[in-house]
Amino acid sequence: MTEREVRVTCCIAGGGPAGMMLGYLLARAGVDVCVLEKHADFLRDFRGDTIHPSTLEVMHELGLLDALLQLPHQKAPRLEGRFGDSAITVADFSHLPTRCKFIAFMPQWDFLNFLADQGARWPSFALMMQTEAIDLIEQAGRIVGLEARSADGPIRVMSDLVVGADGRHSTLRDKAGLRVERLGAPMDVLWFRLSRRPGDDEQSMGRFVPGRIFIMINRANYWQCGYVIAKGSLEAIRERGLPEFRASVAKLAPFTADRVEELTSWDDIKLLTVAVDRLLRWHRPGLLCIGDAAHAMSPIGGVGINLAIQDAVAAANRLAGSLREHRATERDLSEVQRRRELPTQFTQRLQLLIQNRVITNVLRGSADLKPPFALSLMAKMPLLPRLAARLIGIGIRPEHARLQLKATPNN
Ligand SMILES: Cc1cc2nc3c(=O)[nH]c(=O)nc-3n(C[C@H](O)[C@H](O)[C@H](O)COP(=O)(O)OP(=O)(O)OC[C@H]3O[C@@H](n4cnc5c(N)ncnc54)[C@H](O)[C@@H]3O)c2cc1C
Repeated sequence: MTEREVRVTCCIAGGGPAGMMLGYLLARAGVDVCVLEKHADFLRDFRGDTIHPSTLEVMHELGLLDALLQLPHQKAPRLEGRFGDSAITVADFSHLPTRCKFIAFMPQWDFLNFLADQGARWPSFALMMQTEAIDLIEQAGRIVGLEARSADGPIRVMSDLVVGADGRHSTLRDKAGLRVERLGAPMDVLWFRLSRRPGDDEQSMGRFVPGRIFIMINRANYWQCGYVIAKGSLEAIRERGLPEFRASVAKLAPFTADRVEELTSWDDIKLLTVAVDRLLRWHRPGLLCIGDAAHAMSPIGGVGINLAIQDAVAAANRLAGSLREHRATERDLSEVQRRRELPTQFTQRLQLLIQNRVITNVLRGSADLKPPFALSLMAKMPLLPRLAARLIGIGIRPEHARLQLKATPNN
């Protein structure tokens, strides 16, 4: 098959939150941009579902908030954790200085489809589904494009800038030879669905009991369940058999006892591996990595999507003008890393602290599970859940979308 070649100003590999948001922002700023997504749709169920107050604030700045909130979602003004028999509010968003004082739980494919629809309103936006970036094209030490595999055969996309937004197993960061610092994670997650029935709770929930952490996300007609296990322990769990696994789910959430039989084989249960890492350098001439491709986030606090979007906003703010004029330099790329490095490192440190102090202890399964000291304090000092809400809901150094309307929408 002959290889097609196209030319754009910016080619983004990966249609996750980072890639879709950056694609939308650049198109709106009049930059010729193409987003490549290797799957045929956004309908994969192993995506986080949280949209944070700071992301909602960005959507408001872009004039998209009302339309976004028309989509089905649940508002969570607080996050609660159950430790053994104690329920603790770990984050209280109701006092945040943001327009939306809640986390919106929305299936991520709805959010990404929304961004795709909004992007399509701008003439310089292109989204190529079922197109997988497989290699970089380099000339004289500079990345000048990428090779991809599409449903219609191989394609070369030549560009001033390639952005690796291809997630925590990023192909592009490997191909670029960017060095990764691996920070480790003690857990993986088993991911499966159970039906939701009339009378079930509305709120998504997290439950900590000795040896187990169990998360249930309300997705209207079913519960998306995350069963956290110690890294590498899946084989032992499988050897004990599916009936025992079902029984342990029913013990964690007794109201599911009447439906755990829906798990008919291990094929219904997917293993999601958790990684925490970061690139020492996010860029090379002609290439920038953002989101999980630059810094894979742990699911703790559900902040990875927010960070990915904040990276995209920072990158668009810094790069839109110079990309439009075809003069983006490596200095511009290093400025994006410089701006986003502090929030990334701070958040990852906090995640590692919680992994090591809370998650590891819970998974080790000490019989008498008490909330860790810091969390016990939260129950007594309402200011602490507010502080946690600030860290989770807004984060360090929040980004604001600069209105760079240089293009005219199609409609
Ligand atoms: C089990 C688990 C649960 C989590 N839950 C949450 C949560 O509730 N809330 C939260 O905020 N964060 C959560 N996270 C973290 C969050 O998923 C990530 O931080 C976030 O998705 C990063 O966004 P991204 O756009 O950088 O990458 P991704 O969301 O991984 O998107 C990358 C995209 O690139 C595509 N792609 C990959 N390779 C290529 C290629 N070569 N060519 C073209 N396309 C490609 C992928 O198909 C994907 O669509 C969770 C993580 C894990 C492991």
